[in-house]
Amino acid sequence: MQMKHKPKLGQNFLVDDAARHAIVDALGDISKRTIIEIGPGHGAITEILAGRCHRLIALELDRGLAAELNFRFRDQPQVQIIEADVLKTDLRTLVSEGETADVIGNLPYYITSDILLQLFAAGSAGIIARAVLMMQREVADRVSAAPGVRDYGLLSATAQMNAQVDHLFTLPPSAFSPPPDVYSTVLRLHFQPRFAELDVDPIGFNAFLKRCFAQKRKTLQNNLRVAGYTPQQLSAAWPESIPPQARAESLGLEPMAVLYRALLPPEPTRDS
Ligand code: SAM
Repeated sequence: MQMKHKPKLGQNFLVDDAARHAIVDALGDISKRTIIEIGPGHGAITEILAGRCHRLIALELDRGLAAELNFRFRDQPQVQIIEADVLKTDLRTLVSEGETADVIGNLPYYITSDILLQLFAAGSAGIIARAVLMMQREVADRVSAAPGVRDYGLLSATAQMNAQVDHLFTLPPSAFSPPPDVYSTVLRLHFQPRFAELDVDPIGFNAFLKRCFAQKRKTLQNNLRVAGYTPQQLSAAWPESIPPQARAESLGLEPMAVLYRALLPPEPTRDS
């Protein structure tokens, strides 16, 4: 039987029992943890979490589904169902001072990238520690790709600046009702921002990455010229360790950070 659903809200409900357990198992022992669930839907994952974690906060945009879950979990005070748009929710307001939460979700695929950016920011702010997320397989492949492989790009670099990414498992469309048109992959992210370690400032380095990856077919130098660096600036600062014809897709985060620091305008001296 196909469940009633709103395709616009990315409603493909998980019906594979082993998969919903495996998703929760991927967070390990959560008996002392606060968990934020994104898009609980009919509660496939929520139900398992509720029995295992210390506190559960689930954010669901669909009014009918939020009401259904509020009724279902009415006698479980550790479970809080909030009717809300995750992207309009400040995750800081959900977590007590000094505490970190973990995030779980079979994501609404139409806003996967925006949710990832929101979680990277929350990871940097020390609000969340880990996330187990199901997303479209192609997106997961990009998030977890290593430099030099076909799928590596801006999303991979951004994700890997913010988190250690583990690729867990992939599910066929038949694991959902209604079945989506795509395969789905579950990733686990440990938020460990690398900005301090690589000695770069987050805002400047994120903007630099966007410029480096602006056009996939162009070399890194060409992308940086389009971004406004002069050929003189580039040749003066270009590190010997990076081939002049390199594309951003072939470089790891360490050489990218070296290049960013080399291209930074010099710090003003005390006398200037
Ligand atoms: N967790 C359930 C499951 O695994 O069966 C449902 C997953 S379904 C792929 C995505 C869920 O996210 C839907 O319940 C949908 O209504 C909800 N959703 C869509 N957009 C949302 C948003 N902006 N904020 C919060 N929830 C959203």
